[in-house]
Amino acid sequence: MERIQNYINGELVAPQSGMYIDNYDPSRGVVYSAIPDSDEADINAAVAAAKRAFPGWSNTPYTERSAIMQRLADLIRDNLNRLAAAESKDNGKPVSLARTVDIPRAESNIRFYATAIMHFESKAHIMENRVINYTHKKPLGVVGCISPWNLPLYLFTWKIAPALAAGNCVVAKPSEITPMTAYLLSELAIEAGLPAGVLNIVHGLGGRAGQAIISHKDVVAISFTGGTATGAHIAREAAPKFKKLSLELGGKNPNIIFADCDFDKMLSTTLRSSFANQGQICLCGSRIFIQDTLYDRFKDAFVEKVARMKVGDPSDPATKMGAVVSEDHMNKILSYIKLAQEEGGKVLTGGHRVHLEGELAGGYYIAPTIIEGLEYTCRTNQEEIFGPVVTLTPFKTEEEVLTMANSTPYGLASTVWTQDLTRAHRVAAHIESGIVWINCWLLRDLRTPFGGVKQSGVGREGGFEALEFFTEAQNVCIEL
Ligand code: NDP
Repeated sequence: MERIQNYINGELVAPQSGMYIDNYDPSRGVVYSAIPDSDEADINAAVAAAKRAFPGWSNTPYTERSAIMQRLADLIRDNLNRLAAAESKDNGKPVSLARTVDIPRAESNIRFYATAIMHFESKAHIMENRVINYTHKKPLGVVGCISPWNLPLYLFTWKIAPALAAGNCVVAKPSEITPMTAYLLSELAIEAGLPAGVLNIVHGLGGRAGQAIISHKDVVAISFTGGTATGAHIAREAAPKFKKLSLELGGKNPNIIFADCDFDKMLSTTLRSSFANQGQICLCGSRIFIQDTLYDRFKDAFVEKVARMKVGDPSDPATKMGAVVSEDHMNKILSYIKLAQEEGGKVLTGGHRVHLEGELAGGYYIAPTIIEGLEYTCRTNQEEIFGPVVTLTPFKTEEEVLTMANSTPYGLASTVWTQDLTRAHRVAAHIESGIVWINCWLLRDLRTPFGGVKQSGVGREGGFEALEFFTEAQNVCIEL
């Protein structure tokens, strides 16, 4: 069985304890590889390597840093099929999705920051021809990057790329549930010629390896994407040590459909925004609000299409709905479907585990599920489920739907469907979310600020915002 290795000081190494954790293939429900169960000793070695590498890397001309990162992006592109197959097997997502979204986006993330650094500016403030202030944006040193399992290589590279481009050295931990593509990335980093210690990838459990990163005194900043409870824990650890923090957390996103929308475009996009990646994207619209005059038409058309969605083998290029990521996660989603029914919800389609045949019989599959008849304040409509489950709720007025949309503790993303331009702007202005998609979903321009409000996070990734996060602005004042 394949054993994943840590990438520390430029080498692939076993965990110091010699201990490993099982890694599951969720499409079959079987163990297929082993992950280092890294602990403080491995993190200490990684941080020490990163510290040693920092003076060299931060003083490497940005053009050279950029060239190495571009080589890494090229290697991701050249290994597209291999990485997509690995991502699909590790996560349960359809290989077609990994091939068209996850892996190309990982390549773009690296390329985007490899080139962004060439345009990263500093300001000067001049006082009456007598005094010049300039801002020196310095890399921070050793930074920690911790990412979740839903878009494994995509979100992992989204963090490490700006950190490395800005001249930092990184100790990163992918989710223990989906470590494979980060491991393959470490092989590619060696091939790309990334100097030893600049990037260290340590695998293991959040509570052990992750905890050792966030509490290490020499890790001066943490960029984290994951659940809100883990984010709160990290904030509690980091605050008294004055570490810089970027937190991208959970969501419970509203999808607001007004009666005047472009129905066909809305319907096909809503299928994606509800169920892409089995609903396991932090940006999925899990609460669908439909204006009452359109409610029945939408419900009939949507249920008809969703009922026909086939759940299948993720490795089959024709599959659109694969497995959810783990048995625990499957059980969590199923428990929320049960809760929804206890809360008075009616399951219109789905609502159950799907058992496929043959080798896939033990896989973690859930039928795409639509529920109606719930209060917008109930737990099903307030808590993040993070699976292929959406609720339908009718509304009459703009004011009413804004109250419902803004009622959760989260504020990551929202989607609004209307042909009325004035209303679109007005709703966008009043909605409590970091991102608003109008008549589209998941249309991403990497230059834009990305992040949430309320319990969906603190700080922004994307564009120059991430380079600002991974640098410290120093004001240098000169009197002439
Ligand atoms: P978790 O919060 O459980 O885990 C995220 C990462 O943190 C994992 O690598 C995990 O390791 C690690 N971790 C767990 N405990 C600690 C700790 N004490 N110290 C340091 N690291 C720790 O999230 P999930 O992996 O379950 O991801 C799903 C969540 O991510 C959802 O809430 C989703 O909304 C959110 N998300 C947010 C996005 C955004 O951009 N806002 C994007 C994508 C997802 P391990 O896996 O080993 O436990």
